[in-house]
Amino acid sequence: MIKKIIPIFVPHSGCPHDCIFCNQKKITGVSTNITKDIVRNIIEECLQTLDPKKHDIEIAFFGGSFTAIDFDIQRELLSVACEYVNKGIVKDIRLSTRPDAIDKYRLDLLKEYKVTIIELGVQSMVKDVLDASLRGHSVKDVLDASKLIRTYDFKLGLQMMVGLPNDTKEKSIYTCKEFIKINPDFVRIYPTLVVKNTGLENEYIKKSYEPFNLENTIDVCKTLFVLFKLNDINIIRLGLQPSENISLDRDVVAGPYHAALGELVENRVFREFLDIIIKKFDVKDLLMVESNKKNMSKIIGNKKSNKEYFNKKNIILKVIESNLDINQINIVIEEKKYEFSEKDILKTIKEELHL
Ligand code: SF4
Repeated sequence: MIKKIIPIFVPHSGCPHDCIFCNQKKITGVSTNITKDIVRNIIEECLQTLDPKKHDIEIAFFGGSFTAIDFDIQRELLSVACEYVNKGIVKDIRLSTRPDAIDKYRLDLLKEYKVTIIELGVQSMVKDVLDASLRGHSVKDVLDASKLIRTYDFKLGLQMMVGLPNDTKEKSIYTCKEFIKINPDFVRIYPTLVVKNTGLENEYIKKSYEPFNLENTIDVCKTLFVLFKLNDINIIRLGLQPSENISLDRDVVAGPYHAALGELVENRVFREFLDIIIKKFDVKDLLMVESNKKNMSKIIGNKKSNKEYFNKKNIILKVIESNLDINQINIVIEEKKYEFSEKDILKTIKEELHL
């Protein structure tokens, strides 16, 4: 079955928090303009192109802090989604929220309306990063919320941001390792961008905040990628998606934006691995890699960047299509073939980086 998502953006007319990177104005009273009729219309419209016999359909309420909005509104919106689950049309209901907006009352409510997946916007597991980002919740809130969500048997997703105020490569890796201890079903990784009309924009203008550049972001995300993958934690998103809240052309002032960050990170993983192989086998001029068609462009790199990188080292990278499994590559050095699985590649990098 192919998974299909019906996205429903739940805009808040205000959020009681004041995260430094967020462009949502802090105002009192948390509400949303979305109604049950709007939810029904969105679902019906999407269902016109979906088939429950062929697709695993999921209704996803995006937009930050679903469980922080008024309980009556939560019930109203969820009741519509739940109808489609009861009819056997929709398989999952997902929502995203803050760690400090999770408690037994709220989780009981979500269970009643057959929500199955909860994503927590955590951003960091380091106190001074959370504090400097004005998140308004603690590391303990994350641990408590995750534990409670697990007790209720929801699927758990955790979101982290790279390059927040006070963040460093080491702190992002620490956050990743703390996530691994929690063992979520999946994670999302976002770069921190400076968005107009945010506290972060003021700090950036005052020069008291400097975003990670793209190179640092790729480097950090590559390490997170290796660690999460080695621990079988699914990365469902790496990089930012333009949303109704943020338009990249209009709203982003600075930061490591790239439309294909996830791809650049995967390219870097292969580059790093091949660099280790070149060193280990003392490859002098030609490095031949056999790979499944789907991995070829990742090995060659975005705009052939990996090829060019090795060219500068006087090494020709030749990638040959073969019917290998997607999780395997072969490296041919002086007519001898070496097989590497995805796990071998990740482990090799982990050892080299002393992670
Ligand atoms: S990031 Fe989420 S919790 Fe923070 S201010 Fe924005 S909407 Fe509110």
